[in-house]
Amino acid sequence: MISNIFPWQVNLHQQWLAQGAQRHHALLLSGKQGIGKRHFASAMAASWLCQKPQLGLACQHCEACHWLSEGSHPDFKEIKPEEAEGSDDSKKKTRKRQQIVIEQIRGLHDYLSLSNHQVGGLRVVMIHPLEWVNTTAANALLKLLEEPPAATQFILVTHQKQALLPTILSRCMQVDMPVPTAAEGVAWLHQQAIVNAEWVWHYSGGAPTTVLADHEEAAIDWHAWYLQWRAFLMQGARLELHLALPVLLQHGMLHAMTVLQKWSVDIQRCCHHLPAKYHSDALAGLKTLASACHEDQLLTFMAQLNRFKLSALHPLNQELQLEQCLLQYKKCFR
Ligand SMILES: [Zn+2]
Repeated sequence: MISNIFPWQVNLHQQWLAQGAQRHHALLLSGKQGIGKRHFASAMAASWLCQKPQLGLACQHCEACHWLSEGSHPDFKEIKPEEAEGSDDSKKKTRKRQQIVIEQIRGLHDYLSLSNHQVGGLRVVMIHPLEWVNTTAANALLKLLEEPPAATQFILVTHQKQALLPTILSRCMQVDMPVPTAAEGVAWLHQQAIVNAEWVWHYSGGAPTTVLADHEEAAIDWHAWYLQWRAFLMQGARLELHLALPVLLQHGMLHAMTVLQKWSVDIQRCCHHLPAKYHSDALAGLKTLASACHEDQLLTFMAQLNRFKLSALHPLNQELQLEQCLLQYKKCFR
């Protein structure tokens, strides 16, 4: 259960606290990925359900807080794309469900047709990411937002507000979530004992919470890995496939794809004399690659990455797919 918020969210939290219980029934938190929107939504949900909140945050000790931490609070409903079973075993890793489907919203209708567990208390519904609600489900959700049941608070989270139906947007109070400054982000990463915090901040594109999304991953020295694969990618057309493959795949296909995407974005930016977005410490190498780059091939490579990334959680043929990608990468350069 989450009972804290990030330093860059303190002002927003103070504003909410000053408003007391005078809230819109459907709050929509939007902003880019990795700035702690869902974390904030969870903290707020916990504080609303807590029996003895302290300064607008959950106390962590009352009955409601215990229920919530055990995932069994009867007045809290969280809706997210479900993961298939066995996803904790990386070899059996199955593809995440990419949608929130109508059955889930129907279930929500049923749930909300019952009365609140705690008489006179609030019921909280959290949905994230909202852009994954498919069209049929969105229309069913709209009905709930238009005629909200009594004492029900919706808290919705989206990374892509522009992908939502205008009818949904118009039923919500929209909240642009605060983005950390570089100083705030780096200081926070330092506090989390992240190795090479400055580099991580930059490489995450100013999205610090993505770094801690997975506790095991947080312990990895990403910078050391970065130096390894970067040396290979700098080879351009002379890239040694059999050596590069295992290094890139060291942390799974999804990370390999993300690495290649970010790298290709910066090569393309260099081709157009724009500053690098993620690899400002590798400018000389990027410029060399850009000067030898066939941009049409680079675009083909980037499109291929987008396609393969969608299936990156499929266990099959990862090595083969990555090999195809790297073959195309080599073609990008003279
Ligand atoms: Zn509590």
